[in-house]
Amino acid sequence: MYDYVRKQDNEVFAALEGEEQREAEGLELIPSENYVSKAVREANGSCLTNKYSEGYPGKRYYGGQEFTDKVEQLAIDRAKKIFGCDHANVQPLGGANANIGAYFAWLDPGDTVLGMDLGHGGHLTHGAPVTYMAKLYRFIRYKMKNIETGEIDYDEMREIAKKEKPKIILGGFSGYPRELDWQKISDIAKEVGAVAMADVAHIAGLIAGGVAKNPFDYGFQIVTTTTHKTLRGPRGGMILSKGIVSSPLKAPEKTVENLPTLIDRSVFPGLQGGPHMNNIAAKAIALGEAMQPPFKGYAAQIVKNARAMAKVFQDANIRLIAGGTDNHLVLADVWSSLSLGGKDAEGTLDKVGITLNKNAIADDTRKPFDPSGIRFGTPAITTRKFTEKESARVAELMIEAMQNKSEEKKLSAIREEIRTLCKKFPIPESFV
Ligand SMILES: *Cc1c(COP(=O)(O)O)cnc(C)c1O
Repeated sequence: MYDYVRKQDNEVFAALEGEEQREAEGLELIPSENYVSKAVREANGSCLTNKYSEGYPGKRYYGGQEFTDKVEQLAIDRAKKIFGCDHANVQPLGGANANIGAYFAWLDPGDTVLGMDLGHGGHLTHGAPVTYMAKLYRFIRYKMKNIETGEIDYDEMREIAKKEKPKIILGGFSGYPRELDWQKISDIAKEVGAVAMADVAHIAGLIAGGVAKNPFDYGFQIVTTTTHKTLRGPRGGMILSKGIVSSPLKAPEKTVENLPTLIDRSVFPGLQGGPHMNNIAAKAIALGEAMQPPFKGYAAQIVKNARAMAKVFQDANIRLIAGGTDNHLVLADVWSSLSLGGKDAEGTLDKVGITLNKNAIADDTRKPFDPSGIRFGTPAITTRKFTEKESARVAELMIEAMQNKSEEKKLSAIREEIRTLCKKFPIPESFV
């Protein structure tokens, strides 16, 4: 592998080789990560990286678009089919860009967005004060009513929405282990005249695989996502929408029906320049994979594996935020249960070859750089074909490592077991 890089650039080659080995020999439990197929990697490294394609299929600002048009149209058609919507913009370079593109399409500076509290599972791009979006728009929050069950306070959401009149109500998260009630959010949005937008960056693959509910089935108008998390595609984003699709060359009236066209114009020329066509080809391939029957089994297994891991933690009396999981991720309060800070837990698990991240838990009393919790998930180990059995074993090893963080001998035995498990379950090259 990497023959040309090896011949030409030893330093970069060494880094690529190192990362290949790290991925092969360690367990990836970061819930936003995954392993893509060789086909996705090939397309991502293809000749399409050479091409400028500003605009959209059939409406470009440069010549030579015979093949780029085909590839982008394939990605669009597949995304529409999977998610059951009228339009897909597949050009956003990431999930953040997808959200910004959606905000720009519908909001004016100073407008209000009602989203999930960042400490209760919301994402940076849902209005963290450090983002430019937070300087442009006014973000207000809803929260969980009960941290032990994960129940969202929809009554409070309605009250806030009625009082603050948000232009967008945003459902979506990166650190929440339960399902949102899309119907309730959509009803509240309708009641106050807001657009219902879902950010399914983390759960797009679960929706595609039919194990999580699709916001479009509950009246949502906009759904943004990444393509590289549970969806198992290349790094990138998409904005999916319902409405009338018309030419992006002419600005339409700002109505809910025109959202697809407003979004196209928002992404280009509003936010980005030329699309990364190599990346769009890789998205098309990943979406093609997600339409094949095995993907349903994959998505279902992700959730089973997460539940199996959650059960081991609960049996060991470790407090889980929301009391368990309905999706691909688990949030454990290691501070109250094991007297171990999140940073320490992350470092200890790193030593045994398990990669995950420290995470603030709802209403955390500890500092962001050393919070009370850890967040982990099963998309990547499920790609490796782990079932409940191996997942539960990993959870046991995690707890054992955290309880014996200073016992080098014990840790190295755990590291060895993880290495053996990885060898037994190599990263697959293809999923179809
Ligand atoms: C990961 C994530 C994003 C951002 O995606 P990037 O590709 O990192 O920009 C946006 N929203 C949510 C909910 C996410 O989990």
